[in-house]
Amino acid sequence: MASGRVDLDGNPIKPMTICMIGAGGFIGSHLCEKLMAETPHKVFAVDVYNDKIKHLLEPSSLQWADRIQFHRLNIKNDSRLEGLIRMADLTINLAAICTPADYNTRPLDTIYSNFIDALPVVKYCSENGKRLIHFSTCEIYGKTIGSFLPKDSPLRQDPEYYVLKEDASPCIFGPIEKQRWSYACAKQLIERLIYAEGAENGLEFTIVRPFNWIGPRMDFIPGIDGPSEGVPRVLACFSNNLLRREPLKLVDGGESQRTFIYIKDAIEAVLLMIVYTKVSGEPSLDSPTIDISSKEFYGEGYDDSDKRIPDMTIINKQLGWNPKTSLWDLLESTLTYQHRTYAEAIKKAISNPTAS
Ligand code: NAD
Repeated sequence: MASGRVDLDGNPIKPMTICMIGAGGFIGSHLCEKLMAETPHKVFAVDVYNDKIKHLLEPSSLQWADRIQFHRLNIKNDSRLEGLIRMADLTINLAAICTPADYNTRPLDTIYSNFIDALPVVKYCSENGKRLIHFSTCEIYGKTIGSFLPKDSPLRQDPEYYVLKEDASPCIFGPIEKQRWSYACAKQLIERLIYAEGAENGLEFTIVRPFNWIGPRMDFIPGIDGPSEGVPRVLACFSNNLLRREPLKLVDGGESQRTFIYIKDAIEAVLLMIVYTKVSGEPSLDSPTIDISSKEFYGEGYDDSDKRIPDMTIINKQLGWNPKTSLWDLLESTLTYQHRTYAEAIKKAISNPTAS
């Protein structure tokens, strides 16, 4: 446990206090688990919800009980935030509205959450000389250069035209009326602000751009532990379809490409930084997928990145990190969790639709 870990120079890790904003979400819950189980660090876990970290907070006899404190607060309007950042050595900001279905349907909330609400966090870190790890997104790259080439161009297969590099790839978003880009644009602006705070005021920072992190506790299942009309991120949508024995909805033909990574591998990186039939034992559907237009699925103003494949040079060089879990294994463990957690509730909801 705690004492076994060393830093990148091989020295034992000194205990520090981390102010983790958005600690009650998907990534935050895994990060808190890891920090409690494998490091000596203390965590101020800040969020408006704590359901996903309840198992770390109760009972008070847990071995790490004195190392994790939950602070229920909304960073939009709570004067306690600055005090917590000041008392911590490091702030990790995970708080955001970050489900694609919200980007074009709730663009104002999306922009406020990803830009305006993050401003005080950056300001307090900068003014108090505290290091900030801010969670941005791979959406920041937008579309690949290759997507603008003619459909039959062989250059589309050339990695030069699609691999996304932190320090070289441009951020290519669609027109303003494609409100889907409100999220990426707000994240880009907060990245630029953090960068500028670093350049002008010496803020020490790390910006993380996750590429679809997947695993237990991701998002919600509509009508079970989230709003029935809500649309979670892609794998949670697929598992909802699978649990309800509906075909998977493939938006606009399902041609967009993503890179998926298992949450536990990704958390390893942060710390430095299925298939379904097998799980449920049920036979596969005759039509396992159906096509659906993005307008029908997400509403007006949706648009998409064609391909998201990261260049690994910088993270290899700086952290010596590579993911270990195969796509097959991460699907199996994630969908097994989804099945174990939601199958009974979905069966009940389907047999009694008015009750949910
Ligand atoms: P999540 O929605 O599960 O967690 C975000 C948490 O922030 C939630 O618990 C929410 O209650 C909290 N929060 C939001 N606004 C708040 C506020 N005003 N005050 C206090 N708490 C607030 O999301 P996640 O998947 O854990 O993502 C965390 C971060 O990583 C986000 O910034 C997201 O944009 C980024 N990201 C995640 C992925 C991914 O694959 N999960 C991909 C790209 C980017």
